[in-house]
Amino acid sequence: MIQDIASTVTADPDAPRSAIRTPFDDSLLAEVPLTGPDALERAFSTARAAQGQWQQTPPRARARILERFAGILLGHRDEMLDVIQLETGKNRASAMEEFGDTVLWAHDAARMGPAALHEQRRPGAFPALTRTMERHVPKGVVGIISPWNYPLALPIGDALPALMAGNAVVCKPDSQTPLTAGLAVDLLRRAGLPADLMQLVVGPGAELGPAIVGHCDFLMFTGSTATGRVLARQCADRLVGFSAELGGKNPLLVLSDADLSRAVPGAVNACFSNSGQLCISVERIYIHQDLWDAFVPAFVERAGAMRLAAGTGWDADMGSLAGTDQLRKVADVVDDARTKGAAVLTGGAPRPDLGPYFYEPTVLTGVTPQMDAYAEETFGPVVSLYRVASDQQAVDRANDTRYGLNASVWSRRRGTWAARRIHAGTVNINEGYAAAWASHAAPMGGVRESGLGRRHGRDGILKYTDAQTIASQHLVPVSGPASMSHERWGALLTTGVRLLRRIR
Ligand code: NAP
Repeated sequence: MIQDIASTVTADPDAPRSAIRTPFDDSLLAEVPLTGPDALERAFSTARAAQGQWQQTPPRARARILERFAGILLGHRDEMLDVIQLETGKNRASAMEEFGDTVLWAHDAARMGPAALHEQRRPGAFPALTRTMERHVPKGVVGIISPWNYPLALPIGDALPALMAGNAVVCKPDSQTPLTAGLAVDLLRRAGLPADLMQLVVGPGAELGPAIVGHCDFLMFTGSTATGRVLARQCADRLVGFSAELGGKNPLLVLSDADLSRAVPGAVNACFSNSGQLCISVERIYIHQDLWDAFVPAFVERAGAMRLAAGTGWDADMGSLAGTDQLRKVADVVDDARTKGAAVLTGGAPRPDLGPYFYEPTVLTGVTPQMDAYAEETFGPVVSLYRVASDQQAVDRANDTRYGLNASVWSRRRGTWAARRIHAGTVNINEGYAAAWASHAAPMGGVRESGLGRRHGRDGILKYTDAQTIASQHLVPVSGPASMSHERWGALLTTGVRLLRRIR
């Protein structure tokens, strides 16, 4: 079954193949053809040809396909969870989170799309004389480049609003995880999406990236801040629009009035869900000094008790890391902290007995600015705990970062007070990350070096369009009747402007 998914990739018949292995035990899952330069050109020309017809398809009809996709996806839950897990090594509960999220986002995008894209009458330059319409025209072919950590929610979650807005899509999932996207594209086609409209291309980002930027009309990128910078420069050269969801060093604040019976399990989930390989997961916790002695042992005990396991069962609390690079990076961050004097309260070791890339949930204290764990994104199951003297200090420390993706605040009464003072695109109160992410009607994204633009909400659909204003002028031209002197027109206009200031 898994090998069949490879046929959704646009590639030449004799293209070299890339072996996709499962991080659970490194065994081979499938061989996927790599998209070469000719096939990439073909992907764009095919998508562009299909887009003309799709643009003419009314938004409500496009929405019906998205809605059907949500239903078909639900009907293929177990198959999809298996592929996500096998490709990424994540535990089933984490796979379920992104599965549920994608189903609901398909539904929500279908529900919001037609209204967001509806042509709107706007007040014209002159009442009665100017009739003005605002409409939203699809960009054309949207390029999507996405990482391996959420192989369904990111590439497909970004394709859905682009398709809803009337675009074609050429999508490059991470080379490590093309199978999940391939299965989703197959299900989209079964839901009625024209087969040519969404093309899947597979290959190393450094090779395919420049060609994708070279052909697309808008680029949606999710991944590291370093790659985001490279792509932003390339998009700037072509003056094509660019939206990016990048890295983070997300803080969690345990304020003086936090309910620890909720904050402790909530914080464990916020740090170790998806083995910490989640852009919005937490890597720094600031704990009010009055709660330090109660919070820290309870948090450490709970993190240390997490069940780690390979395989597609529901039992594991945490799965594997994604591969060698991730394991090395996580181990290096912890070793660096340990060598420079940090204390490891739990974890701090790989678990080769469970699988080649397992690493324990790890809690550090005594982390200083000299250590990599302090300010850089680890993107793994490692969190540093810091004691703070006041709620205000927790907020100040949370803001002491070049990132600004997500923050989490635990408090009975001061959550909104803190949230309004934190520089981050999303702030979750009494929840780690999921409440804001899954509020699909509201925009999601980063500030500072965590990104540009927003996904979700009306903004997340309209960014894949160009606004067009159509104004038709009746009876009198804006520059005045030809028969009237400039002076007379100037006097009339002055009265008109005064009047308009009053009535508008
Ligand atoms: P990455 O190295 O930037 O890779 C992400 C994607 O970009 C992959 O498809 C990769 O392709 C491609 N790529 C790499 N170099 C490229 C280049 N020069 N030109 C064009 N494309 C290129 O990121 P990662 O380390 O795999 O992913 C983890 C990062 O993503 C973390 O920083 C995390 O915070 C961030 N992330 C952010 C969000 C968010 O919503 N803000 C969500 C998830 C992850 P290949 O790998 O196939 O070469």
